[in-house]
Amino acid sequence: MKKPTRVNHPPPIELAADNRPVIAPIYQSVKFEFDTLEETERYLRGERPGFFYSRASNPTTRQLELLLAELQGREECLVTASGVGAVAQALLALTKQGDHILCFVETYNPTRYLIRRLLGRFGVTHSMLSIEDAAGIERALAAHPTRLVWFESPTNPVTKVADIGAITRLAKSAGALVAMDNTFAGLHQHGEYDIDVFVHSLTKYASGAGDVLGGAVIGRGDLIRSMRTDFGMLGGTLDPHAAYLILRGLRTYFVRYQAQSASAQRIAELLASHPAVARVHYPGLPSHPRHELARAQMKDFGTIVTFDLKGGAEASGRFADALQLFAMTASLGSTESLVVTAQMMGGRDLSADQQAISAITEGTVRLSIGLEDIDDLIADVTQALSA
Ligand SMILES: *Cc1c(COP(=O)(O)O)cnc(C)c1O
Repeated sequence: MKKPTRVNHPPPIELAADNRPVIAPIYQSVKFEFDTLEETERYLRGERPGFFYSRASNPTTRQLELLLAELQGREECLVTASGVGAVAQALLALTKQGDHILCFVETYNPTRYLIRRLLGRFGVTHSMLSIEDAAGIERALAAHPTRLVWFESPTNPVTKVADIGAITRLAKSAGALVAMDNTFAGLHQHGEYDIDVFVHSLTKYASGAGDVLGGAVIGRGDLIRSMRTDFGMLGGTLDPHAAYLILRGLRTYFVRYQAQSASAQRIAELLASHPAVARVHYPGLPSHPRHELARAQMKDFGTIVTFDLKGGAEASGRFADALQLFAMTASLGSTESLVVTAQMMGGRDLSADQQAISAITEGTVRLSIGLEDIDDLIADVTQALSA
């Protein structure tokens, strides 16, 4: 074999069956082959398991899918190149022309765009209500045959808590599928509710490190398998290297989520007792309008603390500029703390009524609490409040 040939066919390394890596290797290969054409054909006819082309499936992304399904308490999972990819591909796979979606003002901005603008172009209609409008949900489901109810809890950014039991009961009795973007609450929460499809941005808590994008759609085996071909053809597949980084992040998921939630509780309490603060939104505070519901639904209240400064936009700008340990940028759930002000939040697509429902004011600030020492975080927030 000449050397230009050899570099394309390097020496194979075979491990004995009793000799395994502790960490599964990254299968950074687009293609897989079988020994014979007969076995290749058996695979292509679905008569044997295996891997063939990584847009359809890959051992590293498959390991992540199986782990995520188990964490969320369901049978199957499909991973995607970003959280928005998971939202978009799930919406496309679950709806067709003429279907109606019930969704909420308190929904991640790109999800609102996908339902209103993108699916709207294909003849999918929607109703958009407040997540707290139980009577409206009942009326909307009675007025329109509904394919899908799509919601989040806690909501972004003001951490409203959805009554998941009530929403799933109403949706099921109307014959609608229920999809929940569970990114904020995380993979260890809400699995006991009658949710058909969970969607997650893995970019946030699953990875934790803020260095990789990913998304997941998780649910019953038959339902998720029915979506697999659409997902493969839409092509937003997660790369095996990204899947590996997310698998690595998940090793510390539980300790991170719990430690960061405990710090968030402390920061929320600090803010609630400060004279410059008009209102604090955190499900773990007894002053949260649905604190009792949150206690019944959640194990951990999460790492997002949102509050309104009495001084409005001017005060929130000075507060954000004065913070030293908080990066002023989008996203959440990473080990470093982050800050976003109302001026950085979307919502320009909302009507005045809808903006009132969204509860974002000029002085609204959202903190994502990281893994820094809690004393340093308290000192930083305290000095920024005095600024
Ligand atoms: C961030 C986020 C997404 C989108 O995730 P990306 O990985 O950034 O594409 C979807 N839903 C919620 C609730 C999010 O916070």
